[in-house]
Amino acid sequence: MNIKDITEFLSNYDGEELSFMEVCGTHTAAISESGIPSVLSKKIHLISGPGCPVCVTVADYIDKLCELALTQNTCVVTFGDLIRVPGSTSALQETKSNGGRIQMVYSPFEVIELAKQDSNTQFVFAAVGFETTTPIYAVMMEKIIENNIKNIRLLTALKTMPAAIDSLCRMGGKIDGFIAPGHVSVITGADAFKPLAEKYSLPFVVSGFKAQELLATIYALVKLKGQGKVVNLYKSAVTDSGNENARSLVSKYFEPCDAVWRGIGKIENSGMALKAEYSMYDAGSRALVHDNVRNKMCRCGEVITGFVSPCQCPLFAKACTPENPQGACMVSNEGSCFHYYINNRGC
Ligand code: SF4
Repeated sequence: MNIKDITEFLSNYDGEELSFMEVCGTHTAAISESGIPSVLSKKIHLISGPGCPVCVTVADYIDKLCELALTQNTCVVTFGDLIRVPGSTSALQETKSNGGRIQMVYSPFEVIELAKQDSNTQFVFAAVGFETTTPIYAVMMEKIIENNIKNIRLLTALKTMPAAIDSLCRMGGKIDGFIAPGHVSVITGADAFKPLAEKYSLPFVVSGFKAQELLATIYALVKLKGQGKVVNLYKSAVTDSGNENARSLVSKYFEPCDAVWRGIGKIENSGMALKAEYSMYDAGSRALVHDNVRNKMCRCGEVITGFVSPCQCPLFAKACTPENPQGACMVSNEGSCFHYYINNRGC
């Protein structure tokens, strides 16, 4: 079927109501920017899931970074999208205004240069991400050890997707299939979703990021309704078994651990933490479990799990905007609220 026919089919669909979750934050961005929701029949709903790493990170993590930034001889190093995420009382941006030492970088490897240049400072790198970014942190660990660098610590909030999807399925929301995460699948392989597909009799379609690829994915999900199958429509980047070398490097330094997800809570073996033999490089990551968000009206937890759309949050586009974010989902460029706001998606 060509893309014109697929679009026509999806526009005119008049069967039972279907809800598909896009699990990946980059898919959320691509779907929002392409305007795909506006061409779909009112009976096909796309829900954004927990695929924005910053959004699923609990407030305790931000609080710890703020505390470290105010500690003598310590500098917190982070990517830009964490700077404005609110913790329970403050965001890193405010901590910086109050004298906290915070350095933004574009690559984790910049931390190594910073550490070499200033041996009197302990640099704490905020290592947040999913299966896609953990291999980069493993390479970073290789370089830290090779260069015998003693003044870098990682504060990790690393998560793995299949266990979170399993929890979502058990939470009982209406999900008829998943647009499986494209980038994560490069590492895990498409087969990683087979046990979930079979367990819940739900289709998983691995998708690329172009509008045509996403439309073909949604079409496949409609056709596969009720079938516990995995279909890989992103074969240019994703294989069945994924990237074994990357996973092997990750397992040299990191091990599975229980992790706490905003909106879901603790999920067994859904995170990665530095192994005990590398604990001297850890800045206290495993203790960060509470999620006391500053604005109690923020519904990020329900947005991430697909129970409400961003538009249903009472603060959306009022007290909460990208200029004045009240929750992580409005800060990150992978956040659902941010994309619903700037692309006027579905509100
Ligand atoms: Fe949280 Fe803002 Fe999204 Fe509401 S609109 S859920 S306050 S990020």
